[in-house]
Amino acid sequence: MYDIQKIREDFPILHTEVYGKPLIYLDNAATTQKPIAVLDQIERAYRTFNANIHRGVHHLSQVATEQHELARKRIARFIGAEDAKEVLFTRGTTEAINLVATSFGQAFVRAGDEIIISTLEHHSNIVPWQLLAERTGAQLRVIRLTEKGELDMAHYRSLLNERTKLVSVAHVSNVLGTINPIRQITDLAHTAGVPVLVDGAQAIAHSRVDVRELGADFYTFSGHKVYAPTGIGVLYGKEEWLEKMPPYHGGGEMIAKVTFEKTTYNELPYKFEAGTPDYVGSTALAVALDYIEGLGLEAIAAHEDKLLRMATEGIKAFPNARIIGEAEHKSGALSFLIGDIHPYDLGMLLDRLGIAIRTGHHCAEPLLESMGLNATARASFALYNTEEEVEQFLQGLKRVVSMF
Ligand code: PMP
Repeated sequence: MYDIQKIREDFPILHTEVYGKPLIYLDNAATTQKPIAVLDQIERAYRTFNANIHRGVHHLSQVATEQHELARKRIARFIGAEDAKEVLFTRGTTEAINLVATSFGQAFVRAGDEIIISTLEHHSNIVPWQLLAERTGAQLRVIRLTEKGELDMAHYRSLLNERTKLVSVAHVSNVLGTINPIRQITDLAHTAGVPVLVDGAQAIAHSRVDVRELGADFYTFSGHKVYAPTGIGVLYGKEEWLEKMPPYHGGGEMIAKVTFEKTTYNELPYKFEAGTPDYVGSTALAVALDYIEGLGLEAIAAHEDKLLRMATEGIKAFPNARIIGEAEHKSGALSFLIGDIHPYDLGMLLDRLGIAIRTGHHCAEPLLESMGLNATARASFALYNTEEEVEQFLQGLKRVVSMF
């Protein structure tokens, strides 16, 4: 049984008041709040095993190393990776995608080659590929969307060709909430001999992710969007690809032997992990994943879907309301507009009622432009939001709309 009141007790920040009103936090696609278990783990790490890892002969360093590597194994299990060495720690999704664009790009992408992305990508899954294209003379090809905000799969098929070197698409859109048909995308790409990167930033907290079932060659996500701290993230990569890719950053940890003439590199995953790793963040991320697994990914998804449906129906009932993105399969995020009220005004006035939503282009300017928009209002849901909060959000919206 999904005991929402008990769950909310795990998140101290939810007791915050904003302008004397209880906080209703509906900006979860931007970042999630942290449960006590995660907060405690951060403190426990610094209190009980803080030491630099992988190189110390002393006890504390060995404990820290063990905890960090246990976290890696835990994350590997969570996402269904075959081996923990396929789990690389990064600072987040953005760094993970840049790592692949730089390193895979250096190994495999040349002038005239093509990278396929889609119209609904976050800037962090656009700009790294543009940088690569500028460096190499490769070209970006962009999958169109249908009216409903789903990928146009016929167009995708038509873009795949012998020049395609990589496909990089979001699992879930941070603006439209669209869940992309990843298995279909990877099957088509693999038939053409092309690997696929999946940006899982908006998926990881909302449903079970199994990288092998998805057929992802690379999968990226950020800890902070899955109830873990900022500054830690994951790049999953299939061993066969990671082995063929050169290091990204140079420094300590990633080397086997250094001389001024020639340096040799460490084995996976360390080859890609230069510098002192975030062993506090990695262990806190593992605790966050334990936390959501404890509640049950299916139960979380069912709960959030109910909130998303309620909010969607509620907003549709407003005269002149427009839901931005009406894909058949959606998760997490709900973008909308009401009449010609500017989303920024909606957001600012809702804030006065203690209700936190996001407004703007959501780091997906080309997507908004393709829809003839420059901003939306976005409510996004997490495991701790309640039906009462959705009702209050809708009532708040009614009050705000009546001011115009
Ligand atoms: N991709 C998507 C789909 C996102 O929603 C975000 C965060 N808004 C990112 C990538 C970037 O994540 P981060 O800023 O944590 O690196």
